[in-house]
Amino acid sequence: MEIGVDPDMPTYSGGLGVLSGDTVKAAADLRVPMVAVTLLHRKGYCRQILDDHGSQREEPVDWPIQDFVRPTTAQITVTVEGKPVHIRCWTRDTIGATGHRIPVLFLDTDLPENADEHRGLTHHLYGGDHRYRLCQEQILGVGGLRALRALGHNTLTRFHMNEGHAALMACELLDEATKERNAKKINADDVESVRRKCVFTTHTPVPAGHDVFPVDLAEHVLPEHTCELLRHLECLDGSLNMTHLALKLSHYVNGVARKHAEISREMFAPIPVDAITNGVHARTWISSHLQDVLDEYVPAWREDSYDLRNAAAIPGYKIWQAHDSAKKEFFKEVGRLTNVRMDEDVFTIGFARRAAGYKRADLFFHDLDTLRRIHRDVGKFQVVYAGKAHPSDDGGKDMIRRIFGAKAELAQQINIAYLPDYDMHLGRLMTAGVDVWLNTPEPPMEASGTSGMKAAMNGVPSLSTLDGWWLEGWIENTTGWSIGQMGPNGPEKADRARDAETLYHKLEYIILPLFYNERERFIEIMRNCITLNGSFFNTQRMMHQYVLKAYYT
Ligand SMILES: *Cc1c(COP(=O)(O)O)cnc(C)c1O
Repeated sequence: MEIGVDPDMPTYSGGLGVLSGDTVKAAADLRVPMVAVTLLHRKGYCRQILDDHGSQREEPVDWPIQDFVRPTTAQITVTVEGKPVHIRCWTRDTIGATGHRIPVLFLDTDLPENADEHRGLTHHLYGGDHRYRLCQEQILGVGGLRALRALGHNTLTRFHMNEGHAALMACELLDEATKERNAKKINADDVESVRRKCVFTTHTPVPAGHDVFPVDLAEHVLPEHTCELLRHLECLDGSLNMTHLALKLSHYVNGVARKHAEISREMFAPIPVDAITNGVHARTWISSHLQDVLDEYVPAWREDSYDLRNAAAIPGYKIWQAHDSAKKEFFKEVGRLTNVRMDEDVFTIGFARRAAGYKRADLFFHDLDTLRRIHRDVGKFQVVYAGKAHPSDDGGKDMIRRIFGAKAELAQQINIAYLPDYDMHLGRLMTAGVDVWLNTPEPPMEASGTSGMKAAMNGVPSLSTLDGWWLEGWIENTTGWSIGQMGPNGPEKADRARDAETLYHKLEYIILPLFYNERERFIEIMRNCITLNGSFFNTQRMMHQYVLKAYYT
């Protein structure tokens, strides 16, 4: 449904889209033959505007489509709400480290021949209501497969549904299989042949995170033929659950970190759910300053992210210099966006991601007096925040206002900035330009998380609750620090006061003293982040695993 393939194309909202972009880039690096499909999102996700109190307002983003995508000859039609909807298909190549090209197709319904209510269906990413979303999923799933066929992709052997949004694609495959037999009714062999082809990745451990539509809405939006098919599959029972549909029609299902796969196995029992832990794309996320150093010491890193382990040979002062330059570059942008002047010599904490409730962006401000005391008596620190709330997420919007409130209360002592309109540009500057990457999700709500991986690749350690990828990347005092303890049965349950307390404790007794008094050891940890975590939590390793575990089975 979304892809962050170019920072200037607002066709993504957060981690899910950035991950799909990074996935396509790694596939291109590795010369994996692949085509990606998404919607055009002419009005983007949203531009975030914040007032002085942190109240968020959104504006649509207008972007020069023709500067980024080329038209194709494909002419396709799908039925939506009983009417034909014509789809135009645009394309853009992603080019890998050795020149291999992977096309990304962008579907667009904004054509004069379409009814007014259907022209806007590919305008807004995650905009509108249930009806709008289901119409989009019909365009993405059914239109997506038809676009591939129209462009001559007739020998594709695997179809990877990234989240349930694309599940109607499997219905269309089923329809193809039935038609191939010149039959009218599907049979068990058709279902089995579709299952052989399909792979499904689920991305959320929260039941509310899955797309579920009322039956009457499904019957209104989808053609009767599709509804019959869904009934046959027992997927139109009480509701239309896109995750259940995708699970039913896939032979391989995975979660995006080990813990997430474990939770998904419980949620979807008895369906087996494998784990392939997410990654990030090295060339996309490593700062230009560190890239120069890597080119000097580990020149093969662009083609082969595993080579980042050899960053062990880079002298500490080189890593520090690169980080220092990234920090200066980032602070310039902070100044430009907010007029807050950050101090380059002061320890800097970064926090940026979607402002969703479970991520607890305000946990850091649980006890302002303790923060004042640590800042005064132990060592100075400053904080940079960023993140958009979904336009209809009032809880997320309240959280941003609470952070602005704390920022105002601390203004006399502690430098705090909240950057508006967090996007891939800011993400890249920020994950490279702070000294520690803070993450405070409520376990086990974070399926994976990826921004901490971006930080790690840039030599920036994480301070994070034990959830998602961090359960696999965390080595205390070696790659960063945990918030909360690991118990005999996994991480402790979230507890606001206790989590805040351990956060402050680590800051006061370990991290600030290390940064200010034992710089050599701090740099050693920075280097470990690159060698141990950068070399593993990247999308090239992830793509190797998808090819072996999902595509070749
Ligand atoms: C990486 C990234 C995310 C995902 O961050 P998480 O820590 O995984 O939530 C969201 N938005 C942008 C712009 C990003 O670059």
